[in-house]
Amino acid sequence: MEKVVLLIGGNLADREALLKEAVLELGRQFEIIKLSGIYETAAWGGKSSGDYLNMAVLFSTDKPAEEVLDIVLAIENQLGRERDIKWGNRTMDIDIIYFGDQVIDTERLNVPHPMMSGRKFVLIPLAEILPDFVHPKLKVTNQELLEKCPDVSEVKYFSASLF
Ligand code: ADP
Ligand code: MG
Repeated sequence: MEKVVLLIGGNLADREALLKEAVLELGRQFEIIKLSGIYETAAWGGKSSGDYLNMAVLFSTDKPAEEVLDIVLAIENQLGRERDIKWGNRTMDIDIIYFGDQVIDTERLNVPHPMMSGRKFVLIPLAEILPDFVHPKLKVTNQELLEKCPDVSEVKYFSASLF
């Protein structure tokens, strides 16, 4: 069994309802251990129009990472994600942040997620549920990553977990 952390969220349609549906779908395939609260972040990079809601999901699974990726991409599609490349808007984005202590770099998968340490909207929910987990490449905890993160964007606490 590996413990896996996902960051899920989107900035279109009924964002809370979509988060709830994504968690319910994940719960059909994996054993969910913990959910973070929900956080709201202004769309970054000037590429998206609406603010994002994001949360972290911790679960355990026997499935290999590539299979987990296939499952989460299928859930994205099921939740009607439309890839609007120009603007970056999406109903649901599901990223694998950690897959246990594994370091994976293939054509389809980079784990730990390479952008996570520069993004407060990832690190804040992550530090909420797993403050002491040590990043397997950077060898520092999520809490330390958050404290050292230079990201100046505002991440607001939106609501407690959905369930
Ligand atoms: P982003 O999440 O960076 O905005 P996309 O969701 O559009 O970009 O990218 C999807 C692709 O990213 C997937 O098809 C997958 O192969 C690849 N990918 C690489 N590493 C990861 C990861 N850790 N989690 C999710 N997708 C990943
Ligand atoms: Mg993604």
